[in-house]
Amino acid sequence: MKDCLFCKIFSGDIPASKIYESEKVIGFKDLYPQAKIHHLFIHKNHSSSVQEMKPSEVAEIFSAIHEWSLKEMNIKNGFRIVTNSGLDAGQSVFHTHFHLLGGEQLGRFGTGL
Ligand code: 5GP
Ligand code: ZN
Repeated sequence: MKDCLFCKIFSGDIPASKIYESEKVIGFKDLYPQAKIHHLFIHKNHSSSVQEMKPSEVAEIFSAIHEWSLKEMNIKNGFRIVTNSGLDAGQSVFHTHFHLLGGEQLGRFGTGL
């Protein structure tokens, strides 16, 4: 979608540190990390928030996170997945994304995410 920051990231118009790519999903490092590991996973098909997403797309993203984290993280230590939806939740980029946070002990609700 035109004028969408995250669509521009997967089209390559805006650079990002990509850590995962499949046919439908990409994962990349958050520019302002709130934890040692802080990545964003998005679907290549634009939707503005999780309520707009098809359940199959949500499943594709979770499958990507599952695949990536099993390979690249010490998952027995745990991690967190967050999606902010809408203004009350503080969503700032309106292309649905899931934050993956980990690599250290996380505060209960204190990440500001
Ligand atoms: P939200 O606030 O919508 O839940 O999350 C948006 C996230 O996108 C924030 O954590 C923010 O740091 C990240 N972000 C904003 N602009 C960019 C960018 O240009 N590149 C990357 N990699 N992350 C970004
Ligand atoms: Zn988009």
